[in-house]
Amino acid sequence: MDESELKVTRGDIIARGLLCNCPNCGKRGLLASWFRMGKACRSCGMDLARSAGLYSGTTSIGYVAAILFVIIPICFLVSFKVLSVKAGVLLGIFGTFGFIVLIYPVMLCWMVMAYHVALPGELPVNGGGEGRDE
Ligand SMILES: [Zn+2]
Repeated sequence: MDESELKVTRGDIIARGLLCNCPNCGKRGLLASWFRMGKACRSCGMDLARSAGLYSGTTSIGYVAAILFVIIPICFLVSFKVLSVKAGVLLGIFGTFGFIVLIYPVMLCWMVMAYHVALPGELPVNGGGEGRDE
């Protein structure tokens, strides 16, 4: 689809997605809980099931992010003797767990964002779902 035909552009979708807002209406309402995506946006009712196939990738992104932002910095701190090995190991265990819990809802939102950046025409506001009997 041509970018100029879109009411909500890819830039809008990214800006909304980074803030965890709905890509369709720009309001909050994607998350049912900290760890779970709702079935539809609470503000505009956009069906979120279509991008749900991507959520299985969420946890693996979390592990990679945890290694990059928690494990590797701790390894440096231990090797430069800023942290003791014991402190590094404890920080690694609890830091990784805490980090994943903390970024989980952000990862969920960003999966929805990534889906709609790839397929902006799928948004209801951009005419997505028209002509389909659902
Ligand atoms: Zn919405």
